[in-house]
Amino acid sequence: PRVRRAQPGRALVGVVRRVLAAVLGRGAPVLVRAGAAGERLLARARLWLFAGLLLIPVAQFATGETMAPWERRALVGYPIGALAMAALIDWRARRGRLPRSFGLLSGAFDLTLVTAALAGFCVAGQPFTAVNSNVTFELYFLGLAATTLRYDWRVCALGGAVAVAGYAGVCAWAAHAFDLSDAAAAAAGYGDFRWSMVAARCVLLALAAALAAGFVTHAARLRVRSVRDRLTGLTNRAYFDERLAEAFELRARTGEPVAVVLLDVDHFKQVNDRHGHAGGDAVLRGVAATLRAHARASDVLARHGGEEFALLLPGATGEAAMARAEALRAAVAAAAPPVAVAGGQGTARVPVTASAGVASTEEPTVDDAVALMHRADERLYRAKRAGRNRVVGA
Ligand code: GH3
Ligand code: MG
Ligand code: MG
Repeated sequence: PRVRRAQPGRALVGVVRRVLAAVLGRGAPVLVRAGAAGERLLARARLWLFAGLLLIPVAQFATGETMAPWERRALVGYPIGALAMAALIDWRARRGRLPRSFGLLSGAFDLTLVTAALAGFCVAGQPFTAVNSNVTFELYFLGLAATTLRYDWRVCALGGAVAVAGYAGVCAWAAHAFDLSDAAAAAAGYGDFRWSMVAARCVLLALAAALAAGFVTHAARLRVRSVRDRLTGLTNRAYFDERLAEAFELRARTGEPVAVVLLDVDHFKQVNDRHGHAGGDAVLRGVAATLRAHARASDVLARHGGEEFALLLPGATGEAAMARAEALRAAVAAAAPPVAVAGGQGTARVPVTASAGVASTEEPTVDDAVALMHRADERLYRAKRAGRNRVVGA
């Protein structure tokens, strides 16, 4: 046997390519969707939180606390500025697809707000509050926890970097602009200033960001696994149902039609009987590969059960769906997936056919997902009764 020589150059290129894909890649669609949902949730929470911040100056004015004019301006200006940005983010988060950079920017924004508040104390001539803040600093951790809602470890990593750079920057500014060795001033409530303390806090921030990134990576893996069918690599029925419900939500808002194709392999029991269960599995994988090759990026293709597949066509008319179903049927009939020959070597081609039922929301009385699937299922059985290897639509 030939011994493969190690090729460090090629291995390095492989590693670099994987790292680049991890850093620059868009990620699995299911994660992009989960991240967008998290982004919208957070956008709303941010609005409420910053609206609540406005109560602080209101309360302070009400209690008649004496304040310098700049202090008044900062107490009102900060929450109003933050609220305006939050409203802008919320508005954009609710409009269509979000670019990948959206989470990076909104995450960095949250953590920069904390830095801005700390810097505000410097501006106010309260450097000890800035460097040893009792409440504001802890908001960094809240911001880092919120980064996990994007299902993207990069948002956590960037958030950590922004927090560390921000806090260290504020401390450097305070140490440069003020005399922080003044023990009497330090004793006024916030303790003395030590760089070792700043370093320790920065390490804690970095650890929190790393923990968030680790959690996100783990959760993302679970989410991807939970929507994937292990045998065929297609998405599963649970994911299909989720996307179907979303398609109907979109339809309620925009009137976009929804169509589905249900496709079932013909006489599949005979495939199992003839080629064994493992052979049947190989045929299912082959059929799935054929279907995948004919699916488009906007389609949702799922293994709906045993030897039954479902295709969701958001925005497709009934006529377009019929054409797609017919193309799928013809492709399956032409494919003949390879199956390993039992005991021997090599593979045998196993020709199979499939029948399909098509339904769309353009038909009267198809008003919800249940009715749509029911209609497609009925037609699938009509296709079976009519002799199989055919498509039945409206
Ligand atoms: P029809 O043309 O009416 O659809 O006939 P059929 O034999 O395909 O239909 P039926 O529903 O009676 O049988 C489906 C078979 O598919 C039964 C089941 O054992 C087999 N099956 C379901 N899931 C799997 C799987 O994951 N692997 C294998 N090998 N077989 C499976
Ligand atoms: Mg079948
Ligand atoms: Mg079946």
